[in-house]
Amino acid sequence: MSYVFPPPAPVSVPVVGLTERFAVHRIYCVGRNYEDHALEMGHTGREAPFFFLKPADAVLVAEPGSMAVMPYPTLTSNLHHEVELVVAIGVGGSQILAADAHQHIYGYAVGLDMTRRDLQNDMKKQGRPWCIGKGFDHSAPIGAITPAAQVPGIGQAEIALQVNGIDRQRSTVAQLIWNIAESIEQLSAAWTLQPGDLIYTGTPAGVGAVLRGDTLTGTIAGLPSLQVRVE
Ligand code: MN
Repeated sequence: MSYVFPPPAPVSVPVVGLTERFAVHRIYCVGRNYEDHALEMGHTGREAPFFFLKPADAVLVAEPGSMAVMPYPTLTSNLHHEVELVVAIGVGGSQILAADAHQHIYGYAVGLDMTRRDLQNDMKKQGRPWCIGKGFDHSAPIGAITPAAQVPGIGQAEIALQVNGIDRQRSTVAQLIWNIAESIEQLSAAWTLQPGDLIYTGTPAGVGAVLRGDTLTGTIAGLPSLQVRVE
């Protein structure tokens, strides 16, 4: 096969304990999946799950032991953090039942669903797509992926985000409205999941703005923490 220009190398994320990397296929995100966050965004807190996507190359990888650098994005003056558990899919499938979902999971990572909130809100008001608010360059920071067998308690793990060492978000994965298995069931009803897919599962309450110079630290018990500096 030859190409009219050299195709880019796959976007990839490091895996804890391995030299092989996890090649990213798609990035799916679950909207409003913690009740306290849905309430702070002006919603009732309980609704059928809904999804949006980010481009695979929106991934911003924090290599183990180092801090990722996120350029402050264009067109916004209200860049928000959303710390999220990321599910990495290792085995594809469609119409996966929640009871079988664990067979499709490769592992888990800490991620940030960075959001141009002002643009997202403008698009919501106009009934337009969220892409410009959610799917921009570097909008999906992620730390190393831990294989699922190494984190059996992930469904109850504490999840938190600090900005410059101060708590902004703190909850547990148990507070998900649609848990990991249910999210996979619903998502795979709409799209055929593939190895390499990442699912950002939603954020708890406490989202807010970050500024140039801020350092974000996302943590989920049992996973390597994620550090991002905004420049
Ligand atoms: Mn989110």
